[in-house]
Amino acid sequence: GAGTWKSERVIASRQGPHLRLVGGGAGIMNFCANNYLGLSSHPEVIRAAVEALEKFGAGLSSVRFICGTQSIHKDLEEKIARFHQREDAILYASCFDANAGIFEALLTPEDAVLSDELNHASIIDGIRLCKANKYRYKHMDMQDLETKLKEAQKYRLRLVATDGAFSMDGDIAPLREICQLAQKYDALVFIDECHATGFLGPSGRGTDELLGVMDKVTIINSTLGKALGGAAGGYTTGPKPLIDLLRQRSRPYLFSNSLPPAVVGCASKALDLLMESNAIAQSMAAKTQRFRSKMAAAGFTISGKDHPICPVMLGDARLASVMAEDMLNRGIYVIGFSYPVVPKGKARIRVQISAVHTDEDIDRCVEAFTEVGRKHGALP
Ligand code: PLP
Repeated sequence: GAGTWKSERVIASRQGPHLRLVGGGAGIMNFCANNYLGLSSHPEVIRAAVEALEKFGAGLSSVRFICGTQSIHKDLEEKIARFHQREDAILYASCFDANAGIFEALLTPEDAVLSDELNHASIIDGIRLCKANKYRYKHMDMQDLETKLKEAQKYRLRLVATDGAFSMDGDIAPLREICQLAQKYDALVFIDECHATGFLGPSGRGTDELLGVMDKVTIINSTLGKALGGAAGGYTTGPKPLIDLLRQRSRPYLFSNSLPPAVVGCASKALDLLMESNAIAQSMAAKTQRFRSKMAAAGFTISGKDHPICPVMLGDARLASVMAEDMLNRGIYVIGFSYPVVPKGKARIRVQISAVHTDEDIDRCVEAFTEVGRKHGALP
C-alpha cells in the first residue's frame, strides 16, 4: 500500500560492469553493485576459488571450533590482521554476523554503547542484542556525541560505534574528532568498514587510514562481500585478547558453519592483489571523480565527497523510481531509494562506481542521466 514493496531483477551473467538480465537485453551497464574494485569477476580471484574448492572441498559441515578450521581460514585471518595492521582477526559468515556477535560478547549491563543514528541495520541489531546502556547520537554530530559521552561516564566502559563510510549518503565519519572525544572521555572506537575496506586511504586500508587514525580505532568490522572479491563473509580485527574472547563467546561464530573454502580463496586472493599494488583503488578514485564532477556540471546534486557511492539527490520518491526505470530503458542499471530506506523527502538514485567501469561507461551514464533528468523535470 505504501509503494515500498521491493522486487528483484534477475541477472543471467557474472557480476560486473556489464550484465545480462533474465528476460532483458545483454550489455546492461551496472552502476549499483558494491563491486568497487571490480574483483568479483577478476580472473585471478576466480582461479583462487577453484583451486581452494578442489584442494579443500565444498565446505566444512561444521562450525569452527568442532572441526571447521582449515589452514586457509587461519591464513586468511592472519592476512586480514596484517592488511589492517591489527593484532588478530576472526572470520564470520558475513559482516552482518560480525556485527551481531561483537556487542553482546564485549559489553555488559555495566557498560555503554554510543551509536550514530544512521548506522547500518546490522550494527543496530547487534546493539539490540547486548545488555549495555544504549545512546544514539545525531548523525556525525560531535556535540551530541560529547554530551552523551559525558552522560555515559558513570559506566565501566564506553564504546563508540560508527560506520566508517555511510552507504546511503556516501559520507565519511569524522573519525579524527570521534577519536579525540574517545580519548578525552576514555572510550573505545568501533568502525564498520564495509564501504571503505580495500579502497579508502592511500593504500586502501580504509577510513582510519584516510583520516590518519589507524592507531586510535580499536575495533574494525568489515565484509569480504563487497570490494574484497564480493563472495561473502565478514570479520572483526583488533586486539588479540578481544579476538580470543570472540572465539569463546560470539554466538554467530560459535553456532554457524565455517566459511566455504572457495569463498576463503576469493578473499585471500583479493587481499594479495591489494597488498601488491594500490593501482586498482586509484583507478576507482579517478573514475569516481570523473562521475561526480560531470554530474555536478550537468546540474545534479551528488551527496557525499570523494566516495564511489554517489547518491543523485532527487527528493521526490516517485521521481527517483521513474527515473531509475527510464535509465534501465537506456541500458543503465541504477536503483532509486526512498522512504523508509532514506528519510522522507530525500529520495535519490544511488550510483556506485567501480574500478572496472571505463571512462566511456561513466560518460554514457552521465549522458543518460542528463536526458532522463530533463525528460522528468529534475533538470531545467
Ligand atoms: N555493514 C554495512 C555498512 C553494510 O553495508 C553491510 C551490507 O550491506 C553489512 C554491514 C553487512 O555485510 P554482509 O553483506 O557481509 O553481511
